[in-house]
Amino acid sequence: MTPDLLESGAKRREAYEARRAAVTGRTESGGRAAGHGRPLKVGEPDFAHGVALYLDDITVSFDGFKALNALSLSIDVGELRCIIGPNGAGKTTMMDCITGKTRPDAGKAFFGSTIDLLKLSEPEIAQVGIGRKFQKPTVYEPLSVFENLELALKGDRRVRASLFHRLDGEQLDRLGEVLALIHLRDEAQRAAGLLSHGQKQWLEIGMLLVQDPKLLLLDEPVAGMTDEETERTAELFLSLEGRHSLVVVEHDMVFVDLLTQGRKKVTVLHEGSVLAEGLLADVQNNEKVVEVYLGR
Ligand code: ADP
Ligand code: MG
Repeated sequence: MTPDLLESGAKRREAYEARRAAVTGRTESGGRAAGHGRPLKVGEPDFAHGVALYLDDITVSFDGFKALNALSLSIDVGELRCIIGPNGAGKTTMMDCITGKTRPDAGKAFFGSTIDLLKLSEPEIAQVGIGRKFQKPTVYEPLSVFENLELALKGDRRVRASLFHRLDGEQLDRLGEVLALIHLRDEAQRAAGLLSHGQKQWLEIGMLLVQDPKLLLLDEPVAGMTDEETERTAELFLSLEGRHSLVVVEHDMVFVDLLTQGRKKVTVLHEGSVLAEGLLADVQNNEKVVEVYLGR
């Protein structure tokens, strides 16, 4: 941990606190979840209609080139959706829009039925319950697996402040639960830098899970994994389905097959829009899909 990192973390935190105050002062429409009868906290997503994520007509241009072109997509609460498509189709750009990293030129993006993602900053989007896993793991290598999870749980990357702050019983339970889910219980005291590539990826997923995000975005999560690690990752994602909604971008068709189990819908992106949607077996036989993607 370099002083630079500590400082930029502190600055991010400050900026975030300021924005957070702005968010909690904001009122959302539909502040009462139908069917639950309890008032929602401001900023809490409303999933009463069964939709976790709703993208409508999203367009993103880079110097006139449309990376996303009127993209519409809807993910149900608890759904595990795989997104496939050739390089350059716009899959990562789609995740950038959902997480606030890129602002679309046009379109709508809602989390639940009330949270307009296009009005929130990146930290606010994480705060309302959307977690994103990038391809390259960003675990703190000198710290143990447990300490990495502990830091993530506290949502405060200022290492010192965080490590001297005690976890309560509920937080410890959550850490234990996540360690079991990511198959790293026996490695809890090991330095993260000593883990295999696959284990680091799981740790990073665990660092998202401790925050209990409602929606998880995973961009090529099994890239570079062994076959056994890939299978274990599929098991992990299947165990998360239901409690979380998952959007998984992946090229590895064996992995997609493991995740969809012959019954879940996949979405094929091409040139910034949905080319096809349906069961893997069906889209794999779709002429357009074979032509632009699978027929290579
Ligand atoms: P995928 O993840 O499906 O491979 P991307 O979303 O990364 O595709 O990219 C979609 C298209 O947008 C590509 O042609 C890529 O070169 C372009 N693109 C992505 N980000 C930028 C950017 N920041 N500036 C210019 N072009 C970009
Ligand atoms: Mg990509």
